[in-house]
Amino acid sequence: MIEIRGLAKSYGPRLAVGGIDLVVPRGRIFGLLGHNGAGKSTTIGCLLGHLFPDQGSIRVNGTDALADRRLALARVGAIFETPAFYEYLSGLRNLRIFAECTAPVPDSRLLEVARIVGLADRIHDRVGRYSHGMRQRLALAQALLPDPELLIVDEPTDGLDPEGIHEIRTLLLHLNREHALTILLSSHLLSEVELLCTDIAVMRQGRLLYSGPMSGLPRTEGWIILKTSPAGRANELLRAKGWLEEQRGEDRVRLRPGIGVADAVAVAVAAGLRVEAAHPIEMTLEEFYLQTVHGDHDA
Ligand code: ATP
Repeated sequence: MIEIRGLAKSYGPRLAVGGIDLVVPRGRIFGLLGHNGAGKSTTIGCLLGHLFPDQGSIRVNGTDALADRRLALARVGAIFETPAFYEYLSGLRNLRIFAECTAPVPDSRLLEVARIVGLADRIHDRVGRYSHGMRQRLALAQALLPDPELLIVDEPTDGLDPEGIHEIRTLLLHLNREHALTILLSSHLLSEVELLCTDIAVMRQGRLLYSGPMSGLPRTEGWIILKTSPAGRANELLRAKGWLEEQRGEDRVRLRPGIGVADAVAVAVAAGLRVEAAHPIEMTLEEFYLQTVHGDHDA
Protein backbone atom coordinates (compact mmCIF):
# COMPACT_ATOMS: atom_id res chain seq x y z
CA MET A 1 0.00 0.00 0.00
CA ILE A 2 2.90 2.34 0.79
CA GLU A 3 6.40 2.02 -0.61
CA ILE A 4 8.91 4.61 0.51
CA ARG A 5 12.46 4.36 -0.83
CA GLY A 6 15.47 6.43 0.21
CA LEU A 7 13.33 9.19 1.71
CA ALA A 8 15.43 12.09 3.00
CA LYS A 9 14.35 15.47 4.34
CA SER A 10 16.26 18.20 6.14
CA TYR A 11 15.08 21.50 7.58
CA GLY A 12 18.05 23.73 6.77
CA PRO A 13 21.04 22.05 8.40
CA ARG A 14 18.83 19.80 10.58
CA LEU A 15 18.42 16.29 9.20
CA ALA A 16 14.90 15.06 10.00
CA VAL A 17 14.75 11.91 7.86
CA GLY A 18 17.97 10.37 6.59
CA GLY A 19 17.17 8.13 3.62
CA ILE A 20 14.72 5.55 4.91
CA ASP A 21 12.97 2.65 3.17
CA LEU A 22 9.54 1.86 4.55
CA VAL A 23 7.04 -0.62 3.13
CA VAL A 24 3.51 -0.89 4.50
CA PRO A 25 1.75 -3.97 3.12
CA ARG A 26 -1.94 -3.79 2.25
CA GLY A 27 -4.38 -4.78 5.00
CA ARG A 28 -2.00 -4.19 7.90
CA ILE A 29 -2.14 -1.91 10.93
CA PHE A 30 1.31 -0.39 10.93
CA GLY A 31 2.69 1.54 13.90
CA LEU A 32 5.42 4.12 13.36
CA LEU A 33 7.30 4.50 16.65
CA GLY A 34 10.06 6.75 17.85
CA HIS A 35 11.00 9.35 20.45
CA ASN A 36 10.03 12.99 19.93
CA GLY A 37 11.96 14.34 16.97
CA ALA A 38 12.69 10.89 15.49
CA GLY A 39 11.24 11.90 12.11
CA LYS A 40 7.78 10.29 12.18
CA SER A 41 5.78 13.45 11.40
CA THR A 42 8.21 14.45 8.68
CA THR A 43 7.83 11.02 7.07
CA ILE A 44 4.03 11.23 7.26
CA GLY A 45 4.13 14.86 6.08
CA CYS A 46 6.06 13.80 2.95
CA LEU A 47 3.65 10.92 2.42
CA LEU A 48 0.64 13.24 2.55
CA GLY A 49 2.25 15.85 0.30
CA HIS A 50 2.48 18.51 3.04
CA LEU A 51 6.27 18.44 2.69
CA PHE A 52 8.43 17.82 -0.34
CA PRO A 53 11.31 15.42 0.31
CA ASP A 54 14.89 16.26 -0.65
CA GLN A 55 15.42 12.76 -1.97
CA GLY A 56 13.62 9.49 -2.43
CA SER A 57 10.43 8.09 -3.86
CA ILE A 58 6.98 7.47 -2.40
CA ARG A 59 4.39 5.18 -3.95
CA VAL A 60 0.88 4.91 -2.55
CA ASN A 61 -1.24 2.10 -3.89
CA GLY A 62 1.14 1.82 -6.84
CA THR A 63 1.01 5.51 -7.80
CA ASP A 64 4.05 7.79 -7.62
CA ALA A 65 2.91 10.25 -4.93
CA LEU A 66 5.53 12.86 -5.84
CA ALA A 67 4.54 12.89 -9.54
CA ASP A 68 0.76 12.57 -9.14
CA ARG A 69 -0.19 13.47 -5.60
CA ARG A 70 -3.90 13.82 -6.32
CA LEU A 71 -4.27 10.33 -7.76
CA ALA A 72 -2.00 8.74 -5.13
CA LEU A 73 -3.98 10.28 -2.27
CA ALA A 74 -7.47 9.90 -3.79
CA ARG A 75 -8.29 6.94 -1.51
CA VAL A 76 -6.31 8.08 1.53
CA GLY A 77 -7.93 9.44 4.68
CA ALA A 78 -5.80 11.17 7.29
CA ILE A 79 -5.93 12.76 10.68
CA PHE A 80 -2.58 14.44 10.86
CA GLU A 81 -2.94 17.57 12.92
CA THR A 82 -5.72 17.89 15.51
CA PRO A 83 -8.70 18.85 13.37
CA ALA A 84 -10.47 22.07 14.30
CA PHE A 85 -14.26 21.85 14.37
CA TYR A 86 -16.90 24.56 14.56
CA GLU A 87 -18.00 24.18 18.17
CA TYR A 88 -21.42 25.77 17.71
CA LEU A 89 -22.37 23.57 14.75
CA SER A 90 -23.49 19.95 14.82
CA GLY A 91 -21.19 17.08 13.98
CA LEU A 92 -23.16 16.61 10.76
CA ARG A 93 -22.80 20.28 9.74
CA ASN A 94 -19.07 20.03 10.41
CA LEU A 95 -18.79 16.98 8.19
CA ARG A 96 -20.84 18.71 5.48
CA ILE A 97 -18.65 21.82 5.53
CA PHE A 98 -15.52 19.68 5.36
CA ALA A 99 -16.94 17.72 2.43
CA GLU A 100 -17.91 20.94 0.61
CA CYS A 101 -14.31 22.17 0.94
CA THR A 102 -12.75 18.94 -0.24
CA ALA A 103 -14.93 16.61 -2.29
CA PRO A 104 -18.72 16.93 -1.99
CA VAL A 105 -20.52 13.77 -0.90
CA PRO A 106 -24.26 13.14 -0.41
CA ASP A 107 -25.79 13.42 3.08
CA SER A 108 -26.38 9.68 3.03
CA ARG A 109 -22.59 9.20 3.02
CA LEU A 110 -22.16 11.68 5.90
CA LEU A 111 -24.68 9.68 7.94
CA GLU A 112 -23.03 6.44 6.95
CA VAL A 113 -19.59 7.51 8.23
CA ALA A 114 -21.23 8.82 11.41
CA ARG A 115 -22.72 5.37 11.90
CA ILE A 116 -19.43 3.61 11.19
CA VAL A 117 -17.65 5.61 13.91
CA GLY A 118 -20.52 5.14 16.38
CA LEU A 119 -21.73 8.75 16.36
CA ALA A 120 -25.12 8.24 14.68
CA ASP A 121 -27.05 9.10 17.87
CA ARG A 122 -25.14 12.30 18.53
CA ILE A 123 -24.38 13.56 15.03
CA HIS A 124 -27.06 16.31 15.28
CA ASP A 125 -25.62 17.60 18.59
CA ARG A 126 -23.33 20.57 18.72
CA VAL A 127 -19.64 19.63 18.69
CA GLY A 128 -19.19 21.91 21.72
CA ARG A 129 -20.99 19.22 23.71
CA TYR A 130 -18.79 16.39 22.47
CA SER A 131 -16.26 14.62 24.68
CA HIS A 132 -12.66 14.34 23.55
CA GLY A 133 -13.30 10.76 22.41
CA MET A 134 -16.34 11.83 20.36
CA ARG A 135 -14.28 14.55 18.66
CA GLN A 136 -11.69 11.95 17.79
CA ARG A 137 -14.44 9.78 16.31
CA LEU A 138 -15.74 12.78 14.35
CA ALA A 139 -12.20 13.32 13.03
CA LEU A 140 -12.17 9.67 11.96
CA ALA A 141 -15.55 10.14 10.28
CA GLN A 142 -14.06 13.07 8.37
CA ALA A 143 -11.09 10.94 7.33
CA LEU A 144 -13.47 8.22 6.12
CA LEU A 145 -15.41 10.52 3.80
CA PRO A 146 -13.35 9.77 0.67
CA ASP A 147 -13.98 6.03 1.22
CA PRO A 148 -10.29 5.45 1.82
CA GLU A 149 -8.27 2.29 1.38
CA LEU A 150 -5.51 3.75 3.54
CA LEU A 151 -5.99 5.63 6.80
CA ILE A 152 -3.12 7.64 8.28
CA VAL A 153 -3.51 8.74 11.89
CA ASP A 154 -1.10 10.64 14.08
CA GLU A 155 -1.41 9.73 17.78
CA PRO A 156 -5.04 8.50 17.53
CA THR A 157 -5.46 8.04 21.28
CA ASP A 158 -3.54 11.10 22.46
CA GLY A 159 -5.19 12.68 25.50
CA LEU A 160 -8.03 10.16 25.74
CA ASP A 161 -9.11 8.46 28.96
CA PRO A 162 -8.89 4.63 29.18
CA GLU A 163 -12.45 4.21 27.93
CA GLY A 164 -11.84 6.56 25.00
CA ILE A 165 -8.60 4.73 24.17
CA HIS A 166 -10.47 1.42 24.18
CA GLU A 167 -13.21 2.83 21.91
CA ILE A 168 -10.75 4.20 19.36
CA ARG A 169 -8.76 0.97 19.37
CA THR A 170 -11.93 -1.07 18.82
CA LEU A 171 -12.97 1.27 16.02
CA LEU A 172 -9.60 1.10 14.26
CA LEU A 173 -9.63 -2.71 14.49
CA HIS A 174 -13.18 -2.71 13.08
CA LEU A 175 -12.16 -0.45 10.18
CA ASN A 176 -9.21 -2.69 9.42
CA ARG A 177 -11.13 -5.95 9.60
CA GLU A 178 -14.60 -5.08 8.34
CA HIS A 179 -13.79 -2.26 5.93
CA ALA A 180 -10.41 -3.63 4.74
CA LEU A 181 -8.57 -0.43 5.58
CA THR A 182 -4.81 -0.40 5.77
CA ILE A 183 -3.84 1.82 8.71
CA LEU A 184 -0.61 3.69 9.35
CA LEU A 185 -0.43 5.32 12.75
CA SER A 186 2.20 7.00 14.84
CA SER A 187 1.98 6.59 18.58
CA HIS A 188 3.91 6.86 21.80
CA LEU A 189 1.47 4.58 23.63
CA LEU A 190 3.31 1.30 23.26
CA SER A 191 0.79 -0.76 25.18
CA GLU A 192 -1.83 0.36 22.64
CA VAL A 193 0.43 -0.35 19.71
CA GLU A 194 0.98 -3.82 21.12
CA LEU A 195 -2.78 -4.47 21.16
CA LEU A 196 -3.51 -2.86 17.82
CA CYS A 197 -0.68 -3.15 15.34
CA THR A 198 0.29 -6.03 13.10
CA ASP A 199 3.57 -4.36 12.11
CA ILE A 200 5.88 -1.70 13.51
CA ALA A 201 8.76 0.47 12.45
CA VAL A 202 11.05 2.13 14.99
CA MET A 203 12.76 5.41 14.08
CA ARG A 204 15.54 7.28 15.81
CA GLN A 205 17.16 10.51 14.61
CA GLY A 206 15.78 10.10 11.12
CA ARG A 207 16.92 6.51 10.74
CA LEU A 208 14.89 3.32 10.71
CA LEU A 209 16.13 0.94 13.38
CA TYR A 210 13.57 -1.83 12.92
CA SER A 211 10.71 -2.56 10.55
CA GLY A 212 8.66 -5.71 10.38
CA PRO A 213 5.68 -7.70 11.61
CA MET A 214 4.94 -7.82 15.34
CA SER A 215 4.94 -11.60 15.11
CA GLY A 216 8.57 -11.50 13.98
CA LEU A 217 9.92 -9.27 16.76
CA PRO A 218 13.04 -10.85 18.22
CA ARG A 219 11.63 -10.85 21.73
CA THR A 220 12.87 -13.94 23.51
CA GLU A 221 16.66 -13.76 23.34
CA GLY A 222 16.82 -17.34 24.60
CA TRP A 223 15.63 -16.70 28.15
CA ILE A 224 13.08 -19.14 29.56
CA ILE A 225 11.24 -19.76 32.80
CA LEU A 226 11.90 -23.27 34.07
CA LYS A 227 10.25 -23.94 37.38
CA THR A 228 10.73 -27.42 38.79
CA SER A 229 10.30 -29.16 42.09
CA PRO A 230 12.60 -29.69 43.83
CA ALA A 231 13.60 -26.16 42.90
CA GLY A 232 16.87 -25.52 41.11
CA ARG A 233 17.73 -29.18 40.46
CA ALA A 234 16.95 -28.87 36.72
CA ASN A 235 19.49 -26.07 36.39
CA GLU A 236 22.21 -28.29 37.83
CA LEU A 237 21.38 -30.97 35.28
CA LEU A 238 21.34 -28.47 32.40
CA ARG A 239 24.64 -26.98 33.54
CA ALA A 240 26.20 -30.42 33.73
CA LYS A 241 25.16 -31.04 30.11
CA GLY A 242 26.64 -27.69 29.05
CA TRP A 243 23.19 -26.41 27.99
CA LEU A 244 22.85 -23.57 30.48
CA GLU A 245 24.47 -20.29 29.50
CA GLU A 246 23.17 -17.95 32.20
CA GLN A 247 20.88 -18.02 35.19
CA ARG A 248 18.92 -15.29 36.99
CA GLY A 249 17.31 -16.26 40.24
CA GLU A 250 16.09 -19.80 40.60
CA ASP A 251 13.75 -20.08 37.61
CA ARG A 252 15.14 -17.89 34.82
CA VAL A 253 17.72 -19.42 32.57
CA ARG A 254 19.22 -18.74 29.18
CA LEU A 255 19.90 -21.88 27.21
CA ARG A 256 22.61 -22.50 24.66
CA PRO A 257 21.50 -21.61 21.09
CA GLY A 258 19.69 -24.54 19.53
CA ILE A 259 18.42 -25.88 22.87
CA GLY A 260 14.71 -25.24 23.37
CA VAL A 261 12.19 -25.34 26.20
CA ALA A 262 11.14 -28.87 25.21
CA ASP A 263 14.75 -30.11 25.51
CA ALA A 264 15.06 -28.63 29.00
CA VAL A 265 11.72 -30.12 30.06
CA ALA A 266 12.76 -33.55 28.75
CA VAL A 267 15.91 -33.43 30.92
CA ALA A 268 13.89 -32.46 33.99
CA VAL A 269 11.23 -35.12 33.42
CA ALA A 270 13.83 -37.84 32.75
CA ALA A 271 15.36 -37.00 36.14
CA GLY A 272 11.98 -37.48 37.81
CA LEU A 273 11.47 -33.75 38.55
CA ARG A 274 8.04 -32.21 38.63
CA VAL A 275 7.82 -29.39 36.02
CA GLU A 276 5.56 -26.60 37.21
CA ALA A 277 6.21 -24.03 34.48
CA ALA A 278 8.32 -23.95 31.35
CA HIS A 279 8.01 -21.25 28.70
CA PRO A 280 10.07 -18.63 26.82
CA ILE A 281 10.22 -15.16 28.36
CA GLU A 282 8.95 -12.57 25.90
CA MET A 283 9.97 -8.94 26.06
CA THR A 284 7.09 -6.51 26.05
CA LEU A 285 6.94 -4.15 23.11
CA GLU A 286 8.12 -1.42 25.46
CA GLU A 287 11.20 -3.43 26.44
CA PHE A 288 11.93 -4.23 22.80
CA TYR A 289 11.46 -0.58 21.82
CA LEU A 290 13.72 0.75 24.59
CA GLN A 291 16.39 -1.80 23.82
CA THR A 292 16.18 -0.91 20.12
CA VAL A 293 16.37 2.87 20.49
CA HIS A 294 19.09 2.71 23.14
CA GLY A 295 21.11 -0.02 21.45
CA ASP A 296 22.80 -0.18 18.09
CA HIS A 297 20.17 -2.41 16.61
CA ASP A 298 19.88 -1.63 12.85
CA ALA A 299 17.11 -2.74 10.51
P1 ATP B 1 7.11 13.96 17.63
O1 ATP B 1 6.87 12.59 18.19
O2 ATP B 1 7.56 14.93 18.68
O3 ATP B 1 6.00 14.47 16.78
P2 ATP B 1 8.58 13.22 15.24
O4 ATP B 1 9.16 11.86 15.33
O5 ATP B 1 7.31 13.36 14.50
O6 ATP B 1 8.44 13.85 16.69
P3 ATP B 1 9.56 15.26 13.45
O7 ATP B 1 8.51 16.25 13.85
O8 ATP B 1 9.46 14.68 12.11
O9 ATP B 1 9.71 14.11 14.56
O10 ATP B 1 10.97 16.02 13.60
C1 ATP B 1 12.19 15.47 13.14
C2 ATP B 1 13.29 16.52 13.34
O11 ATP B 1 13.05 17.62 12.49
C3 ATP B 1 13.37 17.06 14.75
O12 ATP B 1 14.74 17.30 15.04
C4 ATP B 1 12.61 18.37 14.66
O13 ATP B 1 13.08 19.31 15.61
C5 ATP B 1 12.93 18.83 13.25
N1 ATP B 1 11.82 19.60 12.65
C6 ATP B 1 10.56 19.19 12.45
N2 ATP B 1 9.82 20.14 11.83
C7 ATP B 1 10.68 21.20 11.66
C8 ATP B 1 10.53 22.50 11.07
N3 ATP B 1 9.37 22.91 10.55
N4 ATP B 1 11.60 23.31 11.07
C9 ATP B 1 12.80 22.91 11.59
N5 ATP B 1 13.01 21.69 12.15
C10 ATP B 1 11.97 20.84 12.17
